[in-house]
Amino acid sequence: MSKILDGKALSAIVKDEVKAEVAEIVARGGRVPCLCVIIVGENPASQVYVRNKVKAAEYTGMESRLVALPEGVSEDELLAQIRALNEDASVDGILVQLPLPKHIDEEKVIDAISPAKDVDGFHPSNVAGLWLGKDCILPCTPAGVMRLLDSTGVDLCGKTAVVVGRSNIVGKPVAKLLLDRNATIVIAHSRTADLSAVCRQADVLVAAVGRAGLITGDMVKPGAIVIDVGINRLPDGRLCGDVDFASCSEVAGWITPVPGGVGPMTIALLMKNTLRCYQKRIS
Ligand code: NAD
Repeated sequence: MSKILDGKALSAIVKDEVKAEVAEIVARGGRVPCLCVIIVGENPASQVYVRNKVKAAEYTGMESRLVALPEGVSEDELLAQIRALNEDASVDGILVQLPLPKHIDEEKVIDAISPAKDVDGFHPSNVAGLWLGKDCILPCTPAGVMRLLDSTGVDLCGKTAVVVGRSNIVGKPVAKLLLDRNATIVIAHSRTADLSAVCRQADVLVAAVGRAGLITGDMVKPGAIVIDVGINRLPDGRLCGDVDFASCSEVAGWITPVPGGVGPMTIALLMKNTLRCYQKRIS
């Protein structure tokens, strides 16, 4: 039976680290860091995510602002709103909750956010920074995955890491961060031949696909660290990951649950990123 990588408990530690730093800033008489979250429309999942982000910011003692725009808001209006927040000296982090309605070009929106306030780490200049190994804002979910891996105490140097999924927001950046730790990387995807055989090589297996139960116990190397990024809603309303927890937890050395694994870490790292943007702006 594998050890559980408890993202809920670890995220509480990360949020408390931020809370302590914010308290120190306030005690010194400094300005309180501020995260601004923009949501467009009424997507129920997005509303839950946004509420959790605002709640986490409040927990850490940071200021949070929520800008809720109607589904029909024009791209120009949204871009104008972002430009205004870029100019607003009291705002440190700007996050636009994705996905956006079809009539709005997400790429344009991400490009419009000042890289210095890009707490999601999605702006091309932060993405370039990640790939060039520069000091930059890292995307929250991949950074959260690394923090979970660090909590195992396993040295990743020389290990084989298989990342299933090649999205710009999870798969590719996770692979780069693992590469930075001198792991040997395989990125698997929808066209990978014999996914099972590829996954079985993994000392570290990260699933970021969006298919419930895609990874089963027979695809896991005994003792491997299995990180499940997937969030899938089952017909009965329950959430589950890309990893079949029951069979994989029989084989893996460590495993993240869903919910309670990567999800809470994403929010905790968002708090870290907001504080980091604040510190970079005032320094
Ligand atoms: P995406 O749809 O952009 O990418 C999915 C990737 O999976 C693609 O690269 C595709 O090639 C690959 N894929 C699809 N079918 C496959 C198959 N049968 N075998 C192997 N690979 C396959 O998704 P994303 O934005 O990277 O998100 C992936 C999952 O992670 C989703 O469930 C999403 O909800 C979740 N997610 C969770 C968090 C979190 O905080 N926990 C954050 C972001 C995304």
